[in-house]
Amino acid sequence: MLKLDQLTLKQIKGVSAPKEQELHAFGVHTVADLLDYFPFRYEDYRVRELTDVKDGEKVTVLGHVRGVPVMQRYGRSKSRLTCRVEVGAWLVTAVWFNRTFLQDQLTLGREIMLTGKWEQQRMQMTVSDSEFPDSKRAAKTGTLQPVYSVGGSVTQTWMRKTIRQALAQYGAQIGELLPPSLVDRHRLMGRREAVELVHMPGDVQRGQAARQRLVYEELFLFQLKLQAYRALNRKRNNGVAHRIGSEAIREFAASLPFELTDAQKHVVNEILTDMRRPFAMNRLLQGDVGSGKTVVAIIALYVAVKAGHQGALMVPTEILAEQHMRSLQKLLEGTGIEVALLTGSTTERRRRDMLAGLQMGMIHIVIGTHALIQEDVFFSSLSLVVVDEQHRFGVNQRSVLRRKGLNPDVLTMTATPIPRTMAITAFGDMDVSTIKERPRGRKPIKTYWVKHGMLERVYSFIRKEVAKGRQAYMICPLIEESEKLDVQNAIDLYVQTQQTFPDLQIGLLHGRLSAAEKDSVMNAFGSGESHVLVATTVVEVGVDVPNATLMIIMDAERFGLSQLHQLRGRVGRGEHQSHCILVADPKSETGRERMKVMTDTDDGFEVSRRDLELRGPGEFFGTKQSGLPEFKLADMVADYETLEVAREDAAEVTADHDFWTNPQFVNLRQLLQKDPFFQGEQLD
Ligand code: ADP
Ligand code: MG
Repeated sequence: MLKLDQLTLKQIKGVSAPKEQELHAFGVHTVADLLDYFPFRYEDYRVRELTDVKDGEKVTVLGHVRGVPVMQRYGRSKSRLTCRVEVGAWLVTAVWFNRTFLQDQLTLGREIMLTGKWEQQRMQMTVSDSEFPDSKRAAKTGTLQPVYSVGGSVTQTWMRKTIRQALAQYGAQIGELLPPSLVDRHRLMGRREAVELVHMPGDVQRGQAARQRLVYEELFLFQLKLQAYRALNRKRNNGVAHRIGSEAIREFAASLPFELTDAQKHVVNEILTDMRRPFAMNRLLQGDVGSGKTVVAIIALYVAVKAGHQGALMVPTEILAEQHMRSLQKLLEGTGIEVALLTGSTTERRRRDMLAGLQMGMIHIVIGTHALIQEDVFFSSLSLVVVDEQHRFGVNQRSVLRRKGLNPDVLTMTATPIPRTMAITAFGDMDVSTIKERPRGRKPIKTYWVKHGMLERVYSFIRKEVAKGRQAYMICPLIEESEKLDVQNAIDLYVQTQQTFPDLQIGLLHGRLSAAEKDSVMNAFGSGESHVLVATTVVEVGVDVPNATLMIIMDAERFGLSQLHQLRGRVGRGEHQSHCILVADPKSETGRERMKVMTDTDDGFEVSRRDLELRGPGEFFGTKQSGLPEFKLADMVADYETLEVAREDAAEVTADHDFWTNPQFVNLRQLLQKDPFFQGEQLD
């Protein structure tokens, strides 16, 4: 007997060659594909009592014809058919448009199913669908009808009929795919029953159980792919095994100006464990803004160098690169480790020297922006790549850098936690480390939302903070598509602020400044020389001035939630109470809702969750370019918990040596083998 995935569609009764061609366009090539062509929703033909139905609702009822149908024709081919139908205790006027053929079938006393919109006032129903239960073709009454994605000459009715036919001919051949242990553990419905029920659900509960089973299967198979890939990578052992004693690391940690939090120690250990092993680490480090990810990265870089290799730290902006450069130089002083900064504005001569230094291994750590991944940059022995705020880097850019080294360990840092994790759970084969607490003594940032009219009071707030020796940021938004307007906006605010505070030092930072200018503005603010920094969003990522306690965001409704949270994270970095003021007159409900989220919580995990809720997953992840997989049934957000369970199950299954040898898993191995992901691998 041929397997379902070897049977062509023509084997199904009623599928002609042209129809077969059309189905190919839907990605349906075999009987197996067709059976797995799941409906995306159901049309509800379950019969209800009219007395339970609200005015204007769509409903299906059963009744009897009690009047003579009346036909009105108008226009060239338009018609309106009305007929009295007794439904329960009521006499209802049923109205059809352009269904002339029904007139003869509406015989007195005949039972009829009506689906349509109920208008209580007029006791009238506009019928979108009807059928006679006594007819041979009646199929819908009382059921949920699947709705498929169709098009061309493939109609909904044809698709329903054809899939039903395929089930009748081949349903018995649908076999189980999942390991029995998992079917038992989650009490899943068998595959055959689930596929049948998802196409023909009968009652809602069983339909839901069927869907749940198939969602789990889809997510499990997807996770299996990622986890199998990860397991293979680990088995292959062609990464760098960093050799370094714990004593050296402890000594270095002790030389830092603060003690690591327990959360930091924990993730450092996770990272070290990976770095010491011979496979290439691929780890995500997530933690809210201000949780202290940078120092964790620095320890990892230190380990790479002390083990005789090189490290690279890639960041999204020059300002951040420069700032990291300063922290690294400070923390690595006296260790003999050479650090270099390579950005777009590094002069040609220095760049050449630096490239030579990297290639010969005289420079141990390089920090940079995109400039790091240019073609002419070579390393002597790159063994660790740290990517900060990864959402600014495309997957491609990361892999380019990765290819420059010896299959280096990769540590990716992010401050956009939950949904990022979701994305990684979905398309990454990454391990995740999380910093769950902020350094001790940090007070929650107090956040307020005010209208523009209150700017005077905002200014007096600045005055008060500066009098206490603190500093403030004032951020104006990036104006889409016009860097010029954007800069002008910042300059205007700068001038206004200067006029308001003639006795204070005001700094101005925007994208049009040269690297040297930016540097001096940041230095002045960092050292406390200037009191207020007026800036565009260039400070969004990573800027660290612990004495700044006031973050004022102008036109805050123009920012997305995660951006607002990032900006807010620039304060609250020292022991002083910090404040964030959102100046905004949002016009939309969502705009107001965003301000409310910000004033409600300063927890990045919570902000992300609410953001996802407000925007929906498509917009949140940026649909196509996000690289998120498209699932047939599963929904990344709604089925997130199932996704997590599936991920754990897949990790467990692939970690077991048995998976790669036991005949019990041959189905799954073959499935993986067919995936382009595993091209060139011998799995079975
Ligand atoms: P983020 O996770 O947002 O990148 P940073 O690494 O910039 O956070 O750290 C935020 C601030 O907290 C910095 O000023 C850093 O020096 C400080 N910091 C980091 N770890 C600790 C700690 N264990 N104790 C005290 N301060 C710390
Ligand atoms: Mg950071």
